[in-house]
Amino acid sequence: MNTLTNADLHCHSVVSDGTLTPEALAQRAKANGVELWALTDHDELGGQDRAMAAARELGLSYLTGTEISVSFAGITVHIVGLGMDHRNEALLTGLRATRGGREERAREMSDDLARLGLPGVYEGALKYVGNPELISRSHFARYLVEIGAAKDTNEVFRKYITEGKPGFVPHRWAALGDAVRWITGAGGVAVIAHPGRYKLTPTEEFALFTEFKAHGGRGVEVMTGAHGQADYVKYAGYCQEFGLAASRGSDFHSPEESHTDLGLLPDLPGSVTPVWELLESRIQ
Ligand code: AMP
Ligand code: MN
Ligand code: MN
Ligand code: MN
Repeated sequence: MNTLTNADLHCHSVVSDGTLTPEALAQRAKANGVELWALTDHDELGGQDRAMAAARELGLSYLTGTEISVSFAGITVHIVGLGMDHRNEALLTGLRATRGGREERAREMSDDLARLGLPGVYEGALKYVGNPELISRSHFARYLVEIGAAKDTNEVFRKYITEGKPGFVPHRWAALGDAVRWITGAGGVAVIAHPGRYKLTPTEEFALFTEFKAHGGRGVEVMTGAHGQADYVKYAGYCQEFGLAASRGSDFHSPEESHTDLGLLPDLPGSVTPVWELLESRIQ
């Protein structure tokens, strides 16, 4: 395993806001040439046993995974955890608490959208939910496309449910230090997900990386579906600057919605340490 390994360590199943089952994702990863895979459902480990079993059957190396929603300096940041013991009690309790407010937030979002003339969105979104504890904005987006409120899910986010838009309800997620400790306490490695997406000022970004390191975080996604060439170069540089390992993951959610498929990102640059080198003993 090295920088040229076809690792895809970030994707979502029906256990969070993806549209494929863990088994279908495993098959798709294998068909696309993935050699090391992780399923990283939002705030959830409920798909891990299925993903692991499917990977084993296909002869595909596997790392356990999750993507934890964190509130940092007033914005939402995602922290990927890799290689944890997925039965660790403190981790499971932390994730359960993080999932906690989603139902209430969804009802508030729906009330806001009803005031805009879009009634019944909560009930509509539920049709797309695979895990009752994990109703997400993605499920809202799918229903709003279904009823023609926008042409695709990207447009729904742009028009209605990102920060500053009328259907957006701010939410308090986990604290950065807690998320990192839940992951590392369960034997895993914490990774900053898609940093290029947060649109942070240089000062805020420096604070995020510095605090993340101080809490015991060890990796950052360099290659991800949300990054372009300039981000690849920038965050490979941050790996050197902050002494972090680099990760690679498509963030695949759905064949219809995701523009980056499993296993099809460019390789990591040769200058970085791949995060999977820190996780050799956790690979199954
Ligand atoms: P939530 O955890 O409920 O706030 O939902 C966040 C999820 O919404 C992310 O994990 C993405 O899957 C999806 N998402 C966020 N922003 C966008 C966007 N601009 N276009 C499409 N999907 C998005
Ligand atoms: Mn998602
Ligand atoms: Mn994310
Ligand atoms: Mn994701």
